Amino acid sequence: MVELHCPRYGLSSDSTLFTRTYSNNDLTQNPMSSNPAPAAAWPGVIRRYARFLPVTAETPIVTLLEGNTPLIPVPNFVAAIGANFDLRLKYEAMNPTCSFKDRGMTMAITKAKERGAKIVVCASTGNTSASAAAYAARAGLKCVVILPQGKIAHGKMSQALLYGATTVSIEGNFDDALNIVRELGETGLVEVVNSVNPVRIEGQKTAAFEICDALGDAPDFHFLPVGNAGNITAYWRGFREYAEAGLSDTLPRMMGWQAAGAAPLVLGYPVAHPETVATAIRIGNPASWQGAMDAARESSGSIRSVTDEEILHAYKLLARTEGVMVEPACAAPLAGLIKAIRAGEIPDGSLVTATMTGHGLKDPDTAIRVAGFEPILVKATMQAVMAAVGLA
Ligand SMILES: *Cc1c(COP(=O)(O)O)cnc(C)c1O
Repeated sequence: MVELHCPRYGLSSDSTLFTRTYSNNDLTQNPMSSNPAPAAAWPGVIRRYARFLPVTAETPIVTLLEGNTPLIPVPNFVAAIGANFDLRLKYEAMNPTCSFKDRGMTMAITKAKERGAKIVVCASTGNTSASAAAYAARAGLKCVVILPQGKIAHGKMSQALLYGATTVSIEGNFDDALNIVRELGETGLVEVVNSVNPVRIEGQKTAAFEICDALGDAPDFHFLPVGNAGNITAYWRGFREYAEAGLSDTLPRMMGWQAAGAAPLVLGYPVAHPETVATAIRIGNPASWQGAMDAARESSGSIRSVTDEEILHAYKLLARTEGVMVEPACAAPLAGLIKAIRAGEIPDGSLVTATMTGHGLKDPDTAIRVAGFEPILVKATMQAVMAAVGLA
């Protein structure tokens, strides 16, 4: 189903479109003390930020109401890593297919629909395919996804299959898959919805807008994982456009983190055989290479790497101290934050944000392995349970 219009948020006539607030971050309001007016329904990122996006009043918007994700304070985690600042996690797991890819995909599928495309295609480490498959289903388009064989987290694979995408596994890695997709795009038979399609980046920049809206300004530092490097490019563009529009005053330093086994931007040359437990960033030749380098340089930030061991340590620590489950790629910037603190790079009292790009349930196999224990099997009696849990 395609939503062609929205009565309360029509692009042409509703002058209040850009002034409504959609706060899900207000922890101070006491729900018992008053009867707050119902919040305006969230219209999805295209309608919310239409003035910053390449759409018109006629554009046939395809949305699953993505965006408006929580910005979660994590004081226990900050204390556990021995730091003294305010860290908020942009929890992109709360998007409709459980990753940030939905922000770019609502744009890409909307534009594909507008141009009259019939078939969309993408290469993916998993989340792009899940998102493309979902939005294509909603738009009534055929979707083809090309995946590196055996390197896709189970949850992501299950999504592409259930949404009905024609799913092809190649005997190669993500970079091989993306090369094939670029060639397919040149035939003119299909619309490519990877982040080589520039409207993906346009949609993804809305996450930076939401962070500024929630905080009242940009943070001092923004941490995020870097794979194909579309997202760091998008966030930097978003922070700059909001400042240029007078909607924020400052710009953050962009702190991008790759996995050590897949760190072409750190090494300065493509990696032929990238390897990391963080499969979402297992990429050897990022499409948005230049955008990422520009973001780091222009913001006085950096792009560095962390080992798989450091990634899994941060992944487990976040889950155990805060009850926040993310997929391993999201833990790269958290591991990077630990490094940056040890190096004295983050002044006390800073306001730091980090993007948690995808949900931990995407990769249940890694979660169970890293947890380090299995359920304890006992007889079905209270005594047996008490003995097993150390109460007897
Ligand atoms: C796609 C993805 C990334 C990497 O984002 P890029 O834009 O390719 O740098 C990181 N984490 C998750 C969960 C992803 O799905």
